[in-house]
Amino acid sequence: MDGLTATANDSEVPATLPPALLSVEGVTLEYTGASQIVRATQNVSFDVWEADRFVLLGASGCGKSTLLKAVGGFIQPREGRILLDGRPVDGPGPDRVVVFQEFDQLPPWKTVRENVAFPVRVSGRLDRKSAAERADYYLDKVGLSRFADAYPNALSGGMKQRVAIARALAMEPRVLLMDEPFAALDALTRRKMQEELLALWEEVRFTLLFVTHSIEEALVVGNRIALLSPHPGRMRAELNAHEWDLHGGGSAEFQAAANRVHRLLFEDVPPDESNPT
Ligand code: ADP
Ligand code: MG
Repeated sequence: MDGLTATANDSEVPATLPPALLSVEGVTLEYTGASQIVRATQNVSFDVWEADRFVLLGASGCGKSTLLKAVGGFIQPREGRILLDGRPVDGPGPDRVVVFQEFDQLPPWKTVRENVAFPVRVSGRLDRKSAAERADYYLDKVGLSRFADAYPNALSGGMKQRVAIARALAMEPRVLLMDEPFAALDALTRRKMQEELLALWEEVRFTLLFVTHSIEEALVVGNRIALLSPHPGRMRAELNAHEWDLHGGGSAEFQAAANRVHRLLFEDVPPDESNPT
């Protein structure tokens, strides 16, 4: 038993299942350049339900970031559609907020509190005072209350990512999008951040769509995982992974699960397709 279960197919889904919060239906995404078209994903489908921690896992270049951009409304599908609460996504909106990998996503001239409060205020959701209170609330959740008046330059990479997470959560989005948010951190900090993200989720129960190329991270962070083939990304499998958390990390069962995911990601792929570019 390696703790992974393949997801039931449609005919086995009980009729009582609530509607999905986010539906990605047969989505093909392309970049059109001057001389060529790059197909980033092909016919990708998955559903995300409220309070899911849904992970998109695949090798570099398989179109994970492009999928996240499409869910964010920054690019439109070439084929297929993306629905949020049953309505087609046709542009960016405050109901979807992205946390990126880069540490420079915080304007350095704003304090930590201002960084967190600013998007809430400019989106017209709260006045200045209430936005600052909301910022303090989420800064407390990520353990950075003491740094509310500091500037981002005074913070470590991990702390900057905590601010970015607080800023995203302060918007109270329908779905939080994270694009390899911990990939630029050292291994120990990365581990700690995964732990904190899970603790935060236990508390806030946000809906998460999380992108990573790390099998271990996918198993730890996700309750459900979509496996994408190498470029262009197609759905290879979908798994339930709710058994794993950080405590299972070193166990033989965890290793077995990771090995199985590795096989599902890469086996049976002809050599010319197995090498992402
Ligand atoms: P991942 O996030 O999984 O590493 P990406 O979504 O960044 O993959 O990229 C998927 C494919 O689309 C890759 O082949 C990449 O080279 C290509 N690509 C990404 N961004 C652009 C762009 N702005 N213009 C053209 N091609 C792009
Ligand atoms: Mg990417």
